[in-house]
Amino acid sequence: MYLENSFEKIRKFDPEMAALVENEERRQLESLCLIASENYASPLAAGLEGSVYANKNAEGYPGKRFVAGCELADRVENLAIERIKKLFGCEHVNMQVMSATVGNVAILRALLKPGDTILSMELNQGGHLSHGAGFHLSGQDYKVFHYGLHPETEEIDMEQVERLAREHKPQLIICGASSYPRQIDYRRFGEIARQAGAFMMADIAHPVGLIAAGVIPSPVPHADVVSTSTHKTWRGPRGGGVIMCRAALAKKIDYHVFPGIQGAPKMDMIAARAVLALESLSDEFKAYQRQVYDNAQALADELKKCGLRLVSGGTNTHLILVDVRGLISSGKEAESLLESVGIVVNKNMIPYDPQSPQVTSGIRIGSPALTTRGMMEDDFRAVARLLADTLKSGSDRNKLEDIKARVSEVAARYPMFADKWLAKAK
Ligand SMILES: *Cc1c(COP(=O)(O)O)cnc(C)c1O
Repeated sequence: MYLENSFEKIRKFDPEMAALVENEERRQLESLCLIASENYASPLAAGLEGSVYANKNAEGYPGKRFVAGCELADRVENLAIERIKKLFGCEHVNMQVMSATVGNVAILRALLKPGDTILSMELNQGGHLSHGAGFHLSGQDYKVFHYGLHPETEEIDMEQVERLAREHKPQLIICGASSYPRQIDYRRFGEIARQAGAFMMADIAHPVGLIAAGVIPSPVPHADVVSTSTHKTWRGPRGGGVIMCRAALAKKIDYHVFPGIQGAPKMDMIAARAVLALESLSDEFKAYQRQVYDNAQALADELKKCGLRLVSGGTNTHLILVDVRGLISSGKEAESLLESVGIVVNKNMIPYDPQSPQVTSGIRIGSPALTTRGMMEDDFRAVARLLADTLKSGSDRNKLEDIKARVSEVAARYPMFADKWLAKAK
């Protein structure tokens, strides 16, 4: 095939770029990635990105293209759609959005008129910028009200959601978050939306893999529209999104993706996602997602034993939010100190954070990436101790050198993608 061995050819033609790729591979192998929104794509699901389908313009939808030669592309897109319908039990699927963020804008365009009202989670309490942040397109044509977390439980304050829905009569209620460690009560959100006469949208970009595998409950029966990315817990290659919706909204959603916001789709990405969806139906994928969940529990438990405070007291997803105050001055400091020993995390606002988003008082971590490498509960407990030791090190050079050596030793034992998770052919 014409792209076979392409990396060898690039190495000869463009050694500068080849070195950047090889060094990135080394960085990913030699460090411990705890970024909750990152993962290592399955080689099966990533294999078709950049394939011959990257050459094909397939503007339009299957059976209704604006260019010729799309018969096979139609079959690819329909295959992806059918598999995702089967996986999630949803009525309609749009595979074409180039990112979940763009998909969210298309959804708002489809469901709302300018001046309509949205009720969504506050960004600095865990929400996503595409849920109506003032600096984002999603926040600019609508009136946006936010719900947040209960100050004591640090879980979503459902009483507040209900009260705000009654008070502001939104046309759309959005649930789903980027840095919220708890499961979301989709049933209750659905009920509140119906009472308010609003559409309910669930953005499952983060926990989608756990949902696909049935490890945690799905919003599909309760939501009018569900949006997601495919590269976080779902473990596909980075990029693009998927929109699922009720059949009654199908036409509107499709129209507002293409031609509303986008031109031609990226067919190689859609082909790759068809493989991802098939892989998601496998026993190996389900076992992986259960392990992601169990590993997050072990990680949270050990961090607490090391004396760290976790927002909401723990997790029942793949994600943990750590309040670092008391051990170190800020999330920013924690992020850079951890990176210096090879533990990769991101600084993150915690609820009612007195610091700015560039500084923060917390870090967000998650189990998907290291689980993909094959690590189990005991490894995660060891990683938790390394993380805690780093934050408690007082930046002592000797201590940090010692931790760094232990991090390298752990990382060196694992490949990027453990064989046990690779789905077998049926
Ligand atoms: C990550 C994320 C998205 C999608 O982000 P992209 O960068 O567009 O892939 C959307 N919503 C939520 C809640 C997210 O966490």
